[in-house]
Amino acid sequence: MAWRSSGRTNAELISNLYKSQLITSDRVRASMSSVDRAHYAPAAPYEDSPQSIGFSATISAPHMHASAAESLLPFMPENKGAKVLDVGSGSGYLTHVLANLVCGADGKGDGKVVGIDHISGLTEMATRNMKKSEEGRRLLDSGKVEFVTGDGRKGYVEGGPYDAIHVGAAASELHPVLIDQLRSPGRMFIPVEDEEDRGMFGAQYIWVVDKDEKGEVKRRRDMGVRYVMLKDAPK
Ligand code: SAH
Repeated sequence: MAWRSSGRTNAELISNLYKSQLITSDRVRASMSSVDRAHYAPAAPYEDSPQSIGFSATISAPHMHASAAESLLPFMPENKGAKVLDVGSGSGYLTHVLANLVCGADGKGDGKVVGIDHISGLTEMATRNMKKSEEGRRLLDSGKVEFVTGDGRKGYVEGGPYDAIHVGAAASELHPVLIDQLRSPGRMFIPVEDEEDRGMFGAQYIWVVDKDEKGEVKRRRDMGVRYVMLKDAPK
């Protein structure tokens, strides 16, 4: 499925993801169309595959970015002041896409996205990547996008509570601290290593964690995935 969605241009990649129904909403389509992946994954920007970005990190495949954005979409209305946390922001690509969703493609709407990564070389790279476009510079200059260096397993309480939390690396558990930082209502999209398979084949699944208006939390196991692990920062 994945490789069939690759394109020669950004527009072709997004159009193929849409045709394969990996993108289903017009908002996600518009948001991904307005971020050029070449600014974030220069080696093979329009291929639907994960790629190395240095620091032992990878930019996820476009179809994974699409499904994360689709899943969190109901909690990310445009220009309504929604707050989003992107844990393991890596290249900064998804952080930019999420910012487009809450602030609009021109970055002028009310919303805020925090990208957190534990490697300062990556938060610096994400900032450089985002500065390659005028819209990206506007999001950074206005403070609507902020990259911080820190352990994303602890979230970033200063910026919360969050309407939506995306986790871009596999967790060993559904970190309760992250659930605490969700707004009521709010949603978290998080890959988690399966307890029963741990140490064997390392099976991972996306978990969608919803907190309702009353603060009640429901968890749902979704598709099987393969992400790098959330880990301790290198010394
Ligand atoms: N969403 C990113 C994914 C990058 S790969 C992208 O598509 O570009 C996963 C990222 O998680 C890496 O950048 C890695 O540095 C980061 N990471 C791993 N453990 C972490 C931790 N404990 N806290 C914050 N970030 C972490």
